[in-house]
Amino acid sequence: MEKTLSTYSGGCHCGNVKYSVDIADDTEFLECNCSICRRAGWLLVFVDESAFRLEGDPPLTDYLFHKKEIHHTFCPTCGVRSFSKGATPDGAALYAVNVRCTDADLSKYKINEYDGASL
Ligand SMILES: [Zn+2]
Repeated sequence: MEKTLSTYSGGCHCGNVKYSVDIADDTEFLECNCSICRRAGWLLVFVDESAFRLEGDPPLTDYLFHKKEIHHTFCPTCGVRSFSKGATPDGAALYAVNVRCTDADLSKYKINEYDGASL
């Protein structure tokens, strides 16, 4: 059965960073307790390259830590972390989208706790 997708607009606070993202309606959002997610208040969903479209080439500050595999980008003007970019083990791009930075109706989705702190 074909999954039903919704497309949302997202981005940072000041408008430098804008993107659109397709999220399956049965997706469950993750509330992660790792050192960066808890500080930044992330509510996240992982999508592949085909579901994430960044508008233009916005200025982004990159932040790497731990295994340095995930680019925890943020807007240099307003500081908002609206998405991060990583890769799957086979090298395909994988985006972590902070759904709090999109116009998605968060109450439509189930939220699961994710124990990222133990990784
Ligand atoms: Zn901004």
